[in-house]
Amino acid sequence: MVMVRIDKELCKGCELCIPFCPYNSLNMSRNLNEYGLPTVYFKEGHPCSGCRHCAVMCPEAAIEILE
Ligand code: SF4
Ligand code: SF4
Repeated sequence: MVMVRIDKELCKGCELCIPFCPYNSLNMSRNLNEYGLPTVYFKEGHPCSGCRHCAVMCPEAAIEILE
C-alpha cells in the first residue's frame, strides 16, 4: 500500500504539486504550518499509484512516497 507523507513544516503552499497528481488526490488545507503558510494534504480515501510526480515537482522536497 502506498502512503503519501507531506512534511507540513517544509511545505510552503506553492500548489505546484496539485495539478501533477493524475488522481486529483492532493488539495490545499486551511491549516497553517508554524511559519503561517497553508499546506497541501492528501485527500483521504483517494487513490495513489505511487507515481511520485508530486514528490518530484516539489521544490521543497516536502513529499515522501512510502511503499
Ligand atoms: S504519488 Fe502520484 S498518484 Fe500519488 S499523490 Fe503523488 S502524484 Fe498523486
Ligand atoms: S509543491 Fe511542495 S511546497 Fe509546493 S504545495 Fe506541494 S508539497 Fe507544498
